[in-house]
Amino acid sequence: MTDVLLTHEIRRPDLMDEQLQALRSWSSLLQDVFIATTIDDRTQAANTLLTLGTARAYLTTHDGWSPHLHFTGEDEDVVARVKAVTAGGVAIFLVESGGERLGVCARSRCERVFVDTSRNGRREYCSARCGNTAAVTRHRQRHG
Ligand SMILES: [Zn+2]
Ligand SMILES: [Zn+2]
Repeated sequence: MTDVLLTHEIRRPDLMDEQLQALRSWSSLLQDVFIATTIDDRTQAANTLLTLGTARAYLTTHDGWSPHLHFTGEDEDVVARVKAVTAGGVAIFLVESGGERLGVCARSRCERVFVDTSRNGRREYCSARCGNTAAVTRHRQRHG
């Protein structure tokens, strides 16, 4: 989990057990946004994240970055900062995507979620690998 946080440029990412637990339950709330099948449900799920995960919105230029939004105090612990950055990030994304382009992998038995950055916005699988596996399965089913 610490690796994941580092790749997402979360600062001071070391986690205690209870923080890990807290992030696991947070990620299931996050998943609700991807799983939602209507824009209204998705908006609702994102609002839940905003309510639970953010304290306030403000612009910052820390570490020489260009101005960007933060949604909780910079001195908060890693759990609070991850909640804030994911809640805020999802909300901003949904504003820009018109509430779409978040999904769950269509391959049965894969539950990974994805952000659809494809040109036509019709992505169905979390990865090319799942897409291929599903295609092979369909092929087999057609040919008995
Ligand atoms: Zn920042
Ligand atoms: Zn998948």
